[in-house]
Amino acid sequence: MKGYIGEARKNAGKREAGVLLVLAVIGLVFIFGSWHANKIKATTSEEKHYTEKIQKEKYDPKLKGASKETLQLGKKEKQNSKEKKVTSKVSIKKAQEKQKKTKEKAVGAAVHKKPAGQNQAKTVYLTFDDGPSRVSDGIMDVLKKYQVKATFFMLEPNMLKFQDQVKRMDREGHSQGLHGVSHDAKKIYRSKETVVQEMDQANRALQKITGKRTALIRTPYGSAPYMKPDYQKAVKDKGYELWDWTIDSMDWSYRSPQYVTNSIRQLKKMEHHTEPIVILMHERKETLESLPQLLDYLKKNGYTMKRIEKTMKPVTFRVSKAAS
Ligand SMILES: [Zn+2]
Repeated sequence: MKGYIGEARKNAGKREAGVLLVLAVIGLVFIFGSWHANKIKATTSEEKHYTEKIQKEKYDPKLKGASKETLQLGKKEKQNSKEKKVTSKVSIKKAQEKQKKTKEKAVGAAVHKKPAGQNQAKTVYLTFDDGPSRVSDGIMDVLKKYQVKATFFMLEPNMLKFQDQVKRMDREGHSQGLHGVSHDAKKIYRSKETVVQEMDQANRALQKITGKRTALIRTPYGSAPYMKPDYQKAVKDKGYELWDWTIDSMDWSYRSPQYVTNSIRQLKKMEHHTEPIVILMHERKETLESLPQLLDYLKKNGYTMKRIEKTMKPVTFRVSKAAS
């Protein structure tokens, strides 16, 4: 039995030593572990501090201890942001230019799309019938003052009577047209031949006075109802351009400034008119007296006054109109 107890004691001693060894190892591992953990902690906080320092220096390179590298880094950063700014400025400019071009294109397109009549609606052709007369000079004085050209449709006997006025019209750049000889419907419209004869006779008078002939004609009372299709063909075959009007001022009827308001009222309705706007007036004393009023209105409202040209497509009635 003694041997067994001794053996047991011996075994117990071995166990104690083993436990101690294990404890010692655990202890060592713990000590080493906590030291290592502290070291890592220290490194991390150091790194953190350093990073903060760099970052501070980055945004304020003047800070003490800022290295050349951080300064340069800051410069580079600034430059980059500058370049970015410049780039963005350039791209903004480019975008603006693009926008401008697009706008211009749109405007251009709008101008092209604009119907021809829209411009035409701001051009007015003033016409004076039945002259020349003793008021021709007064009319031309007003036209000269307003720097405006007009068109005169004249009768042969009056041309022969007022030759100086016919010459002045030509000299001052107004258009000259023919209105026939008799101004008598029964005579001139007797046949298509009589219409052509009266116009030819008037043209001879014009040529005698000015040395020039004209293709522009306006038949008395307008083309309707007397100028039937065969009458119109007859004058056209002779090379004449038959002109009616778009606005009848009714000056021959009013014999007062009311012809001006009447003309303006009609003109206001023609904003989108596509044909030339031709105003019919006559060589009358009352017409001359209120002519400046009409021209003032037209100029103030952006109208251009032009003379009728041979190259223009004539305005002719589609329906019957009042007297000329
Ligand atoms: Zn007439």
